[in-house]
Amino acid sequence: MMYTIATLGSHTALQIMKGAKDEGFSTLLITQSDREAFYRRFRFIDDIITISSYGDFPEVQHSISRRHVIVIPHGSFIAYLGIEGNKAISLPYFGNKAVLDWEADRKKQLNWLASAGIRLPRKFSRRDRIDRPVIVKSYGADGGRGYFVAHSQKDFEKKISLFTKKDFIVQEYIVGVPIYLHYYYSPITKTMELLSIDRRYETNVDSLGRMPLAHQERIDITPSFVVVGNSPLSLRESLLPEAYAMAERLVVTSQKLIDERGLFGPFCLETIVTPDQQFYVIEVSCRIVAGTNLFIDSSPYASLLYDEPMSTGRRIARDIKIAHRKGIVDCLVS
Ligand code: AMP
Ligand code: AMP
Repeated sequence: MMYTIATLGSHTALQIMKGAKDEGFSTLLITQSDREAFYRRFRFIDDIITISSYGDFPEVQHSISRRHVIVIPHGSFIAYLGIEGNKAISLPYFGNKAVLDWEADRKKQLNWLASAGIRLPRKFSRRDRIDRPVIVKSYGADGGRGYFVAHSQKDFEKKISLFTKKDFIVQEYIVGVPIYLHYYYSPITKTMELLSIDRRYETNVDSLGRMPLAHQERIDITPSFVVVGNSPLSLRESLLPEAYAMAERLVVTSQKLIDERGLFGPFCLETIVTPDQQFYVIEVSCRIVAGTNLFIDSSPYASLLYDEPMSTGRRIARDIKIAHRKGIVDCLVS
């Protein structure tokens, strides 16, 4: 019996459902009742189950467990169910749950990235003398909400006394362009694929330059990093070899540090590229990211690898299909 691909109705659900249907799977969406009518517009969604809030997902698990379901997690799984909620999902869950702790704990994540030889912004501990602009970030992905920038030790101390979040890191503020690289590592074919790239559009930081400096100086503007959209990007070709190499090192390192399966499936390196063409990695996101929604129809990079449209959502389904034929679906889920 063929599997049914299921996910929560939010974030990248349309892409995941369309990709699954393109690969011949049945599709099942679990969504809040207020979004049911919206999702019914799309013919590639075979079945919809409604819940009153995303946090109620665990309650429907039992009733769908007989349907041969594989759950594909995306950003909303973390936002609404939390790490523990994800670990507790009893249905087959695409990806390696052992990676969740390494991603969620910023210290562990930085250790993993550093062990992979990836360049990171300098980290300041609270006792350090801050000698350059810094960004203060709370833990856990929340679309860039609740961050602040300080330009000196004094400025930092003033602002931190008003900061309500308990867990945060203080990082060198890298001046460069944010570039988000979307990868897929297949444990079936053992290949790394760079499927697409986006840049984020963040309010208000991306619009500060629209105001002349003289105006900026007269009004007290606090830069914020709340994501409101994404735009596609092609990378200078000479940067592509390093884009691949970083991701490969990250996967190999995860197999030593986390467990032998390590990181696989879709993931994203969030980078800032400086004028000397160095990638500084600010975060790794270990599942499908929202920026891939730009490329439901494929991307320039995916079309170099595939002679047919290939989104990240479809790529996931393709691996499940191949694994199913070989009888090795277990190696894709946890
Ligand atoms: P939403 O369904 O819009 O409430 O988003 C669910 C989760 O995904 C939240 O944690 C958001 O911060 C995150 N998210 C949504 N869209 C984006 C995006 N374009 N880029 C990065 N994160 C996003
Ligand atoms: P994150 O939640 O770590 O993905 O960061 C959200 C946004 O904050 C990024 O897209 C950047 O615009 C900004 N940001 C995060 N860390 C840094 C950094 N070290 N230097 C400059 N900007 C940063």
